[in-house]
Amino acid sequence: MRIYLSRPHMSGTEQDYVAQAFASNFVAPLGPQLEAFEASVSDYLGGDLHCVGLSSGSAALHLALRIAGVGTGDEVWISSMTFAGGIFPVNYLGATPRFFDLDPASWTIDIARLTEELAVADRDGRLPKAIVPTDLYGQSVDLDALEALAAQYDIRLVLDSAESLGAAYREGRKAGTGGDAAILSFNGNKIITTSGGGMLVTRHKDWADQARFLATQARDPAPHYEHSTFGYNYRLSNICAAIGLGQMEVLDDRVARRRAICERYRATLSRPGISFMPEPDGHRSTRWLTALTIDPEETGVSREDIRLMLLEHEIEARPLWKPMHMQPLYAGSPYHGTGVDEALFANGLCLPSGSDMSDEQQDEVIQRIENLLDRSR
Ligand SMILES: *Cc1c(COP(=O)(O)O)cnc(C)c1O
Repeated sequence: MRIYLSRPHMSGTEQDYVAQAFASNFVAPLGPQLEAFEASVSDYLGGDLHCVGLSSGSAALHLALRIAGVGTGDEVWISSMTFAGGIFPVNYLGATPRFFDLDPASWTIDIARLTEELAVADRDGRLPKAIVPTDLYGQSVDLDALEALAAQYDIRLVLDSAESLGAAYREGRKAGTGGDAAILSFNGNKIITTSGGGMLVTRHKDWADQARFLATQARDPAPHYEHSTFGYNYRLSNICAAIGLGQMEVLDDRVARRRAICERYRATLSRPGISFMPEPDGHRSTRWLTALTIDPEETGVSREDIRLMLLEHEIEARPLWKPMHMQPLYAGSPYHGTGVDEALFANGLCLPSGSDMSDEQQDEVIQRIENLLDRSR
């Protein structure tokens, strides 16, 4: 049986919630399951946050940036190493991305470099409209430092927490609670899923109100359809939200399982030339995907040697995200960094990390990689 990178993993209660949605005929992009799902995520994240269920994480980012006031000619400063859905909304709005490298100590945005560049941009009168740091592979960014910077320059801060629901940024504060807004994704490969879906999480009630308004075709109050701006059809289906209700019940279990999978890889595969994604003191990553780098000089094998060998045995592994400043689409875009992200892309691999992977399956992955490494010494 094929071993996947990260598959949907149902708890078993999802179908009951879906049946409730059918029983009440709320087969629509609104309904009690959607409200309950939003409340459940809000409770989980710790209180005073407004949650708006949306059709995808990309849709959530699109709305967050629009509400942040991003438009034609503006700059958005963003981590280069991310998934397309975490960057394309900048283009939807006619804005321009400026890309930032990662800090090797956390594999999240290089805050020292960001701080320097903000000072320069402030002096030159060309500050960005928004900053969008990515919580990479389940690891929260340094929220305190980024919130302080955003406040200092009065810039909107939107956290891309699509990969980090369930992570803790220091004691008592969860990923997804930061900035003006954070976005979550419930795509099929994420730590929990609604088959497809996303959420905008914000402390500002007016942002949540705006998001609901824009996500339902921007209807002004009137009995007929009245529009003073354009909107989108971005609400999460009540049926999908019902799946999310079942998934929220097991979120902490899923985090624990993914962390255990990562620990097992580390315990067995660590050796000179193999480094796992660091987890800074006080942070608790979800280890959504176990990410590691392979130094071909030291190990005698390349990232691609490992990936292709696994593929031959029906085991899915994937290179780390290709940094956006290296993509043909963004050729020539401004980039600030020394290529930490480029090196991670060159030698980095995500191993199968799904919470439904059995120990036997993981043993097989580990055994095959160990064999290859031993043969290459
Ligand atoms: C998954 C993901 C998104 C957006 O996801 P959707 O597939 O649109 O739900 C955005 N940013 C990052 C970093 C992601 O991993």
